[in-house]
Amino acid sequence: MPWKIDNFLTTENGELVIDGVPAAALAGEFGTPLFVFSEPRIRHNVARLRKAEEIIGCGLKVCYAAKANSNMAILRAVRDAGSDLEVNSGGELWKALEIGFRGDRIIFNGTSKEIWEIEMAIKARIYAIQVDSLYELALIEDTARRIESPANVSLRLVPEIESKTHSGLQTALLTSKFGMMPDEALEAFRIYKDSPHLRLKGVHLHIGSQNPDPASYSDALHALFENLVAIHRETGIKLEHLNLGGGFPVNYLRDGGHANDFADAEREMFEADFEPADAIGPAWRAIKEAANDAEATNLLDGLTLLIEPGRSVIADAGICLTTIRNEKVRPIADSGTDFDDWVLTDAGFNILLSMETYKWYYQIVHASRADDAHATKYKLAGPLCDGGDVYFDIEGQGRLPDHRLLPDGTKPGDVLALLNCGAYSIAQMFQYNGRFLPCVVMTKGSGKYELIRKRDGFEDLVTNDVW
Ligand SMILES: *Cc1c(COP(=O)(O)O)cnc(C)c1O
Repeated sequence: MPWKIDNFLTTENGELVIDGVPAAALAGEFGTPLFVFSEPRIRHNVARLRKAEEIIGCGLKVCYAAKANSNMAILRAVRDAGSDLEVNSGGELWKALEIGFRGDRIIFNGTSKEIWEIEMAIKARIYAIQVDSLYELALIEDTARRIESPANVSLRLVPEIESKTHSGLQTALLTSKFGMMPDEALEAFRIYKDSPHLRLKGVHLHIGSQNPDPASYSDALHALFENLVAIHRETGIKLEHLNLGGGFPVNYLRDGGHANDFADAEREMFEADFEPADAIGPAWRAIKEAANDAEATNLLDGLTLLIEPGRSVIADAGICLTTIRNEKVRPIADSGTDFDDWVLTDAGFNILLSMETYKWYYQIVHASRADDAHATKYKLAGPLCDGGDVYFDIEGQGRLPDHRLLPDGTKPGDVLALLNCGAYSIAQMFQYNGRFLPCVVMTKGSGKYELIRKRDGFEDLVTNDVW
């Protein structure tokens, strides 16, 4: 089966096995829904991103985007794998410091930073606060002056680069809410170049998530390079880093089972599959070639390249195990004689929000019949009291297959594994319908595992209610 991955995701006697641990056994021990994360796979993914460094021949800082998943044990695993961290709020910054990231291994993004967050970032001496607007830059300068400690900053640009990803995941267009226009940034560098309170270190952009085309990284790096040169020409500032953002894709259609059920653009996005190094390498070579005078060559010399991968570090390291709790048979509208088999799980969009917001596709494997043909159509749905809590296309939406494929005879009590569930899942979960947030386990390789998040209990449902 083409979804298997080395020693990480395999089968033994038809059972799905994660890092040497049978998935069904984990479901039995901890209950479901249960998220399982592989520490060896996280290490593998960080190493895969780091490979770009050999090609570009300059410093590469991999800054894992904490928003994809900031469970504390996951952050520690990412840190131990050799990645730095990109945070998006004072809360994520606090978690980063608490788990032991040094300030110079942290960068801070965000569109609505508050003064306490800016102050916290300056005091932690983080590598760069990535500035979203001229207004915010003034706020940072003020704060740095008041607390008498300089702030390292990098300016976030929206250079009008389009990616072929989901429209909600596009972030480098003027129609998006992020960053500043390149000429505003140039103006900012002019205004603040002599400020003793700011260290103007770099420029940043992020084209979006799950980008299917490696060439978008060439466009992006080219835009950053043009700004690097213009900033030097206009202000004399030699930047220390360029930040290319994240968005490296994960192949969500590795089995191909549903490949024909998607429109071309959807399929291209979901099955995107390239080595990050294969996007970054050519992009870097192109700007080296474009740097055809002494000034530009000098600007590239000693430069550090930053990337901010979230999904590509954590998505395929995470699996969600869910138990089928109910079944029913329903006539298919207008057919008269045909029936749909429905099965209902205990994993709703409250723990996999992108199934609702982006109609995201997650491949499903039957945990104890993983080698059986997954060829029988089922209507698969979650437990929430919400008609949108389903794993298939609701008439007319056209983003998901209209059925899901499972082994014939799948029934209540069976455990299913949703693959590639590690990114933007537990980071976005909520207690809708009074559902307990799930527990989370980390596999360590060689059959070892540990609990990294306890399941909620009744008390957790009312922790902060006052009555
Ligand atoms: C979300 C985000 C990322 C990570 O994106 P992925 O698609 O998960 O790699 C990186 N940088 C910024 C600024 C982001 O907002």
